[in-house]
Amino acid sequence: MRQPLVSLLPVADALQRLLQAASAEAPQPAERVPLANALNRILAEPLHCAHNVPPWDNSAMDGYALASSDLAQALGGGLRVSQRITAGMSPAPLEPGTCARIFTGAPIPAGADCVEMQENVLLECDMARFSQAVSPDQNVRPAGQDIRQGDVIMQAGQRLRAQDLGVIASAGIAEVPVRSALRVAILSTGDELVEPGQTLGPGQIFNSNRYTLIGCLQRMGQTIIDGGILPDDPDLTISRLQALGEQADLIISSGGVSVGEADYLGMALRAHGQLDMWKLAIKPGKPFTLARFADVPVLGLPGNPAATLVTFLLLVRPYLLRRLGVEHTEPVQLPVPAGFESSTMGNRDEYLRACLQNGQVVPAGNQSSGVLSSASEATGLILIPAGSVVRLGQPLAFFPFDGLFQ
Ligand code: AMP
Ligand code: MG
Repeated sequence: MRQPLVSLLPVADALQRLLQAASAEAPQPAERVPLANALNRILAEPLHCAHNVPPWDNSAMDGYALASSDLAQALGGGLRVSQRITAGMSPAPLEPGTCARIFTGAPIPAGADCVEMQENVLLECDMARFSQAVSPDQNVRPAGQDIRQGDVIMQAGQRLRAQDLGVIASAGIAEVPVRSALRVAILSTGDELVEPGQTLGPGQIFNSNRYTLIGCLQRMGQTIIDGGILPDDPDLTISRLQALGEQADLIISSGGVSVGEADYLGMALRAHGQLDMWKLAIKPGKPFTLARFADVPVLGLPGNPAATLVTFLLLVRPYLLRRLGVEHTEPVQLPVPAGFESSTMGNRDEYLRACLQNGQVVPAGNQSSGVLSSASEATGLILIPAGSVVRLGQPLAFFPFDGLFQ
C-alpha cells in the first residue's frame, strides 16, 4: 500500500527553502589568500586580467619565422637565417628578405608573420630552403589569444580548480579574494553513542555520523567545531547549543529528530528560536530540521547513518555553497542506463547507493538507512523518483560522489 503524499515535503521544495534561508544570511566575509593556497576556495569577487595572455605574438613551433611575402624565395633559393630567437628573448626586427630560427614560445620578430616548422625546412650553411608552403599567421600564437586585456577571467562564486589557478597565474595575479570558511559545529545526539577507540557497553554503538560529517565538511574546506556527543537530555541540549552557537556560523546535528522520540533538540530549538521540522519525501532520510538557536542556523539531520550522508550531500551541501556565494549549487548528474529492475513504487524520492558496472548503474549492497557500508562500496547515488518503477536499460540520474563532495 502506498502511503498518502500529503504530509511529505518534496525534496525540491526543501532545497528551495534551504537555499532561501542561506541567501538570507549575511554573506561570508572575504579574505585574500596566496594563489598557491587557493585550491577549492570560492572566489568572492570577479577577477580581471590586466594584460593580454600571451603578452606578445609567439611561435607555436620550433622552426623558422618569415614574412609570408618572402615565401616564393623560401621555396626557391631559400632565405638566409639572420637571427636565432629562443623563449624569453626580445628579438630585433626581422631583416627584410631573411628568416629567423625560432623556438616554441619565443616572440615573433617584427616583420615576420608566420612560422614554418623545422621538419619542412632544409638548412644548408645559413640558408633555409622550405619544402612546403606556409600561409600568413600559420604557427603564430597571437597576443591575447588566450585572454584579452581587461577581460573578466573568473566570476565571483567560482570554486577554484587546478586549471583555474593556472589561468589566474597566467594573468599575473598572485593573491585572490575568497570567501572565508564557514565555522560549522557538528553535534552527534544519542545516549547510545560511543566514540571509536572506546569500549562498547551494552546497547551502545560507535558514533559514525561524526566522521561522515567531518569528512564531508573537510572535503568542502569548511572549519569544523566538534560539539562531540550530546546525550538525550534536555538541559544538556540547551547548554551545548548555547556553547556552540557562540562560536559557530552554523550547527549541524545528527539524530534526535525521529518521530516518537523524546525530542530534546526540537524542544530546545522551539524554546530558543524558530523551528521548522519537515518530513521529507526522501529515502533514506525523512526527518529534517531547519531551525535557529539564538541567532545561529541549525540543520538537524536524521540519525540513521545512510540518511545523514544522503541528506548532507543533497541538502546541506547546497546550503553551504549558497552561504559561500555560489549561485549554481546543483551537483553533477549523468544519465546512466539501469542495470537492474525495480517494481516497487515508493512515495519518496529514493537515492540508492550505486556502482557503475559495464556502463550501467546497479545498487550497491543493502539499502537500509541504517547500513553505511553500501555507501562505501558505492561510487555515487542514483535517483528513483517517487512514484516510478525502474526498467532494465532505462536512464537514471547518477550523481557521482566526487561531484557531491565539493
Ligand atoms: P535517531 O534519529 O536519534 O532516532 O537515530 C536514528 C538511528 O540512527 C538510531 O538507530 C541511532 O542509533 C542511529 N544513530 C544516530 N546517531 C548516530 C551516530 N552519530 N552514529 C551512528 N548511528 C547513529
Ligand atoms: Mg537518537
